Amino acid sequence: MVQRTRADAEGDLTAELHARGLPQRPLVGESPAVDLLNTRWIGGGERYDLLEDEGLTAVWLGGWGLPVEAPPSEVQRHLRDARDALAAVIADPAARDGVNALLAHGRIRLSLDDGGPAEHHDVADPARRPAFACLREYLRLAASSPARVRKCGNPDCVLHFHDTSRTGERRWCSMAACGNRFKARRHRSRTASAGGAD
Ligand SMILES: [Zn+2]
Repeated sequence: MVQRTRADAEGDLTAELHARGLPQRPLVGESPAVDLLNTRWIGGGERYDLLEDEGLTAVWLGGWGLPVEAPPSEVQRHLRDARDALAAVIADPAARDGVNALLAHGRIRLSLDDGGPAEHHDVADPARRPAFACLREYLRLAASSPARVRKCGNPDCVLHFHDTSRTGERRWCSMAACGNRFKARRHRSRTASAGGAD
């Protein structure tokens, strides 16, 4: 069997978005946790949310190897709850209750299988399994690099990223989309407050 890559999966999603006349996602995550946060975005002043479309949600989940084993509307609802809980704890690290309430719906069970060490998610409600898997991935990221999953520094942007830079000082979803725009705005306001002297 040919191994499908993340790029293949993202290509499927791009095709589905295109078929619906929707724009491409501006930022694609390297982890399902970050990618869950980026299932909503703003383009041309419009807000988009792929978790509002059952077909898009299924393609998105398939891309991360997360099957839909329950009514899609329930899976979507739990994913949206998980997204909100993650965004809240990233905005304020003390706001952990939402994430913990959702994690309480499952348990991690470890075993040694044919393929080596394995981790199983015991989640009684199948509709909650994809959301649980995304939250588990967030905990994995947070364990190895706390505070490196962040929201874009542009207050008008809803995207998040995992900062894998050496210095850990990344501020923007992308320099082109938000960094340069923000710097230009700051420069304009400085120039204006200096009375246009420079
Ligand atoms: Zn941004």
